[in-house]
Formats: sequence, structure tokens, C-alpha cells
Amino acid sequence: MSLVELNQITRTYRTGTVGVEALRGIDFKLQNGDFSTIMGASGSGKSTLMNIIGCLDKPTSGSYKLAGEDVSMFNKNKLANVRNRTIGFVFQSFHLLPRTTALENVELPLLYSDDNLSWKEIHNRAKHALEIVGLGDREKHNPNELSGGQQQRVAIARALVTEPKILLADEPTGNLDSRTSLEIMDIFQRLNKNGLTILMVTHEPDIARFGERIVTLRDGLIVSDKRVEPVQAATALANWKEMEGVELESEISS
Ligand code: ADP
Repeated sequence: MSLVELNQITRTYRTGTVGVEALRGIDFKLQNGDFSTIMGASGSGKSTLMNIIGCLDKPTSGSYKLAGEDVSMFNKNKLANVRNRTIGFVFQSFHLLPRTTALENVELPLLYSDDNLSWKEIHNRAKHALEIVGLGDREKHNPNELSGGQQQRVAIARALVTEPKILLADEPTGNLDSRTSLEIMDIFQRLNKNGLTILMVTHEPDIARFGERIVTLRDGLIVSDKRVEPVQAATALANWKEMEGVELESEISS
């Protein structure tokens, strides 16, 4: 069974009498365990598609099955419910609460969940999520005491803490330098190897190479959908570290 199945999805934005056809008939399937990327020029419909897949918006026409359930006609409350149960979000700008520790930021989605977890369970799950992204030792830091890459890792932990079936990431490395971007891609690849399904929007071809499938949008339509051999972020990171070591040595010796 596909985790995400879109059939002939359209989305038209109406402003006054003018309509903008942001999506014009999208057929798209995401299987359990996929790591797919969506590329396309600005205005091609990437955010609109992610909003629909993420149950933040509804299509104008077409059907959307999420984990086998047709959610196309769900009202706002039902969409919010399925969203909280199924999807984790990571954004370009990390959207962490300031003056709130990393641990508290990660605990937040569980405070609003219907799971009736005890404080201890909430605490332990948040701690575990921070450990998964390698930030077990930074739990008491506020966002302004963390680097951009560390803030994004907190945001990933916050997305993971509800144990979603899919991680939706919208330009997750857009505010990060190349080296930090590799670290984030390394985390994504490790999560994916452990079974998490990932769908990521990026406009950077270098970042799209870390997924195993590249879907390209143009003017609200899918114009290409290719399987690719992903570049391993761990290897790219190791090469980078080696290069830095060589540069450091030549600086010291000069
Ligand atoms: P991308 O994420 O690829 O940049 P978008 O999905 O944001 O593309 O936009 C697709 C098209 O829909 C664009 O022409 C954009 O101007 C239009 N659009 C997006 N959001 C709205 C909105 N809320 N109201 C009207 N038009 C919109």
C-alpha cells in the first residue's frame, strides 16, 4: 500500500475573479520507506503540493489517500487530527520557540497530543528524540545558544517526537552552510535507513542528490520522476573533514 497516493490533484487559488491554477492534475505515490525530493522553479507549485500532502490545505479536485484513508474531503478538525498522527514537519527557518529550552521545544507537540502521556513519558520521549539527532548534551540550551545546524536538529527532534509515518521537509538546508547541510542530510539518511519515509522540497540539485528519487514540477505538473543512486552524506562528510584537515595542516606549516 502507498503511504501517499494523489490522483489528479488540482488546486486553484481564487483572488477576486482571477484564479491561479497552482496544481493542474498531479498523480503521485510515495511508498513506505521512500526518500524523495521535489524540485522545481519558484512558482512551480512545490509549496502548494507539500501543503496538501501535509494536510495543511485541501485540493480543489482529485483524491488524496494518506495511509489508505481518503482525506480529500476531511474538514479542518479531521485534517488536523490525521496530520498530528501521521506527519512531522521541518522548515527552512526552524520555528523554535525562543527563551524555551531545546528539550521543552521538543516536548511541545506531545503536550498538545491526544495520547494522554504522563509528564515522565513526555520528558523521556523528548530526550530520546534529542539523542537521535545527537543533541542529548544540549537539552537545556535555548535556541539562541545553539548554532543554525543545532537549531535545525532540535526542529527535527520535535518532528520525530510524535513518531510520524512521514517527515515533510521544506528547504530544510536553505538557511545552512554546505558543511552543516551535509550533517542534516546525514541525519535524514540515517532516519530513512531506519524506516522513516521522507519527502523533501529543495531547489538545490546538490541537496536533491541525497534522496533516492527526484520529482520535478513545472507550472503545476510533474514533468519528471526519476530514481537515482543517492550520494551518501556520511561519506561526503568524511571527505570534507579530511579536506579540512589537509587545509589546517598546510596553514600550520606555512
Ligand atoms: P513554489 O513553492 O514552487 O514556489 P507555490 O506552490 O508557492 O510554488 O505557488 C504556485 C503558484 O500558486 C504560483 O503562481 C503562486 O503565485 C500561486 N500561489 C501560491 N499561494 C497562493 C495564494 N495563497 N493565493 C494565490 N496564489 C497563490
